[in-house]
Amino acid sequence: MTSVADLGVKPLMNAAAHLTRLSGSLMPDSVRAAMVAASSHYVPIEELERAAARRIAELTRNEAALITAGAASGLLMAAAGCMTRGAVASIRRLPETKGLKDELVLFRSQRNMYDQALLVSGGTLVEVGNSMPGTIAEDLEHAITDRTAAVVFFAGAHLATGALPLATVVAIAHRHGVPVIVDAAAQLPPVENLWRFTEGGADLVIFSGGKAISGPQSSGLLLGRSEWVEYARLCTAPRYGPARAAKVGKEEIMGLLAAVEGYLTLDHPALLERWEREVRDWVSSLAELPGVTASRDFPNEAGQPVSRALIRLGARARLSRDQLVTALRQGTPAIEVLLAGEDGIYLNPLPLQEGEAAIVCERLRGILEGRE
Ligand SMILES: *Cc1c(COP(=O)(O)O)cnc(C)c1O
Repeated sequence: MTSVADLGVKPLMNAAAHLTRLSGSLMPDSVRAAMVAASSHYVPIEELERAAARRIAELTRNEAALITAGAASGLLMAAAGCMTRGAVASIRRLPETKGLKDELVLFRSQRNMYDQALLVSGGTLVEVGNSMPGTIAEDLEHAITDRTAAVVFFAGAHLATGALPLATVVAIAHRHGVPVIVDAAAQLPPVENLWRFTEGGADLVIFSGGKAISGPQSSGLLLGRSEWVEYARLCTAPRYGPARAAKVGKEEIMGLLAAVEGYLTLDHPALLERWEREVRDWVSSLAELPGVTASRDFPNEAGQPVSRALIRLGARARLSRDQLVTALRQGTPAIEVLLAGEDGIYLNPLPLQEGEAAIVCERLRGILEGRE
């Protein structure tokens, strides 16, 4: 069997974030085992998906669930479902949307590189507000018309400026009979977000399976109200529709179920404490080095309520930030971090395995003290 190393690709230690370009997250043993076990039998795939989704819905206190091929695929399925509302003939001709409610309303300030998945459904984006604080409720009222399929809201503390609070969005959309889709792809932790958005009135909520849930990288979750989840399901494999191109296999289905089961049984307060301790240790250890300043940064880049360390290299540091990042990548283990401005890096405890934070610290000290 050819290994990753045989292909000349070097595995890395991820102190950056759960990023697709770094292969998402690491699956626990239970997820790996579930995927291997699932791979050895033929199954009626829709029956399996429905059964696993029902179990996930119960576990996450939602009416219904759909297993998707990632959060971006969840956006596509949710949009397609809201536009077609179970009409098979309409599903079959997407992305052609003539005669359908095909407008997807979203806040201009929340536009991001993932929202293209909405357009793949054939929908049209209608922007509301601007990037300044003060988007008013009337702006959203006026944007909703008899062509509106859904309002799409991107969750996260980092995307709140220029948007209305979700509760206001839900109230306005529902007054017009329009469903609300929430992209909460990276909004775990806190674990309560698995039910908090739907409890707050969102009709469909999207999570990535390959981020903190630690499921297969190419998996995701669509949670919410039965009616809207079912409309989305009709747009994907094994049926024929726009999301046939984003199908999930039995391995992803069973892997994601195991990942959700595992995620819900984690000791979340203990994890938060561990991450806080690791950030504290990074800050105190690295701040001792010449030319280096270190501080705690909160919340992190995805708006998750988890701290990270901000390390800045001043004029007296032995190397520049870019030299440091190159040295981290070239050493063993190779370490990936996020960049902070021109002279800094962020160290994020969330994607690291237990014990790796100390290794990251030691490598950084070694490089910054000129020992490697
Ligand atoms: C990561 C992310 C996605 C994409 O998630 P995938 O599971 O990789 O498809 C979509 N939306 C937001 C806001 C994200 O952070």
